[in-house]
Amino acid sequence: MRPARACINLKALRHNYHYAKSLAPHSKAAAIIKANAYGHGAVVVARALYDADAFGVACIEEALELRESGITQPIVLLEGVFTPDELPLAARYQFMIAVHNVEQVEWLEQAQLTQPLAIWFKIDTGMHRLGFAPEQVPAFYARLKACANVAAITLMTHFARADEVDCSATEQQIARFKTATQGIQAPVSIANSPATLMWPSTRLDWIRPGIMLYGATPVAEDLPESKALQPVMTLESALISVRELGVGESIGYGARFTCEQPTRVGVVAMGYADGYPRHAVNGTPVAVNGVRTRIIGRVSMDMLTVDLTPLPTAKVGDRVELWGNTVRANEVAAHSQTIAYTLFTGVTRRVPLVYQS
Ligand SMILES: *Cc1c(COP(=O)(O)O)cnc(C)c1O
Repeated sequence: MRPARACINLKALRHNYHYAKSLAPHSKAAAIIKANAYGHGAVVVARALYDADAFGVACIEEALELRESGITQPIVLLEGVFTPDELPLAARYQFMIAVHNVEQVEWLEQAQLTQPLAIWFKIDTGMHRLGFAPEQVPAFYARLKACANVAAITLMTHFARADEVDCSATEQQIARFKTATQGIQAPVSIANSPATLMWPSTRLDWIRPGIMLYGATPVAEDLPESKALQPVMTLESALISVRELGVGESIGYGARFTCEQPTRVGVVAMGYADGYPRHAVNGTPVAVNGVRTRIIGRVSMDMLTVDLTPLPTAKVGDRVELWGNTVRANEVAAHSQTIAYTLFTGVTRRVPLVYQS
């Protein structure tokens, strides 16, 4: 069997969830498990987080998968419904839905529903992607409040730059949110992972932790708040070939790496078709038998090559960690012009998820 796999540590997941809750002890938490729980497997992750206050997903398909698997907690559709025919389904399964535009308000007003829906009323405080502008809030809030299909309203916004320390843009978004919601009595939710970690004033009625649940930090690795996070996914494989190359010999497509000294090279069963980033540069960290070394040569579809100089006895079959506890996903991301989010969500179905509780 091909040795590539992604081990998912459910203890670490639970630790990270409880860590988020400990930062915001008076808040409820909607654990964000959209995109198949950032590639970790939404149903298993939801079952492991049996004490989560709610879950957040991107669409009704993701929510239905959870309900059909027996998940009973509240589920928020973070972008609401995409078409009006989703509303009766959302009512039947009691999903909470974001409402971010006038079309969604009209659909709600015109729908015939057996039960009213709890909604998350989204305000655009500066991200400029989804939500009502602050000056639209009073009128639309009043319309939704008057709508028979609306049971309860939570107010929400989303930050564009909460991962940046001392960023006035986040302070400005917080201030705009306060102004826009002044006088409205409703629970509020504004904190994603970076805000939960770094902006204590954002830990209000509901936090919405995503990436931090999976143990990657959206902010600096060396912040004390980041250090408490435990990686959940270990992407691993094994050496399938070991060879010695002489000075001047090159490795792989495009001969991107040329040996400047006699080099032991390990070939790993892991490539971009598994979701490992092809953009990873020479020097991207990787661990063989727990010892950190580096990628040399271009990542190909099914294989990549590593420098075994620090591992004179490494042999075929030895374990390779692409990211996990020894090499953090954030480090690989930094060497690949991307972020841990895309690494996790990019792991392909060729890689089996193996759960460890
Ligand atoms: C994805 C998402 C989150 C979680 O973001 P992280 O940066 O992963 O914590 C929170 N809120 C909304 C609306 C989202 O779409």
